[in-house]
Amino acid sequence: MSWSATVLTLFPEMFPGPLGLSLLGKALQKNLWSLQVRDIREHGLGKHRTVDDTPAGGGPGMVMRADVASAAIDAARSVCGAAGPERPSIYLSPRGKPLTQARVRALAEGPGVLLLCGRFEGLDARAIEARGLEEISIGDFVLAGGEIAAMALIEAAVRLIPGVLGAAESPAEESFSENLLEYPQYTRPQSFEGWDIPAVLSGGNHKEIARWRRAEAEKLTKERRPDLFALYEKQKH
Ligand code: SAH
Repeated sequence: MSWSATVLTLFPEMFPGPLGLSLLGKALQKNLWSLQVRDIREHGLGKHRTVDDTPAGGGPGMVMRADVASAAIDAARSVCGAAGPERPSIYLSPRGKPLTQARVRALAEGPGVLLLCGRFEGLDARAIEARGLEEISIGDFVLAGGEIAAMALIEAAVRLIPGVLGAAESPAEESFSENLLEYPQYTRPQSFEGWDIPAVLSGGNHKEIARWRRAEAEKLTKERRPDLFALYEKQKH
């Protein structure tokens, strides 16, 4: 069985969207990974297939109902076999634990994910508890729905599945791999608007190049992400 993402959403037509293009799209066609998209509204109530209601305690907006979301999760778990601790059930949420490359790597090494995309003001807290959903955020900002967050998580994980990226795009030495941001990249032309490629990169001395890249990565990380740099230093010693 290939790595598999099950997505529960009110907007199934958003998928596969960008996940169907380029290397990920080709990998999807080759069954290197699979995607099941399920419409939460199929579990909506009544003639109008209602999925939301007003917030208890008042306030603006609507809240996704616990009974509807849970029914969608239960159905997905039984049909797609998407249960179990080895296949985490995740609710994309700005209140979740921030997604990191380390977590992405761990998810990519597992059998897949079940992702619930919120809408409106979010999901009734009881569904999160009752179905043991883990909350994951893709950053400290608020999206209109969980779909783009789900796509970001899937894209980050799938590109790490062996065979998805060509050997040429190996993810071995990229940003966050050792708590470092990546060194700057250059390609032809040799001279661009008066700026030359750093001489060391054209010198052919691989040791020198590796040393230069490491130093640049450290400098960049220290400047831009002191939080990451502290982790890098700690891990080095
Ligand atoms: N009222 C909520 C925000 C709801 S946004 C709050 O203040 O916390 C609607 C939906 O978009 C959420 O249910 C969630 O699924 C998704 N979403 C918004 N921002 C997100 C983020 N940073 N990471 C992951 N999902 C997000």
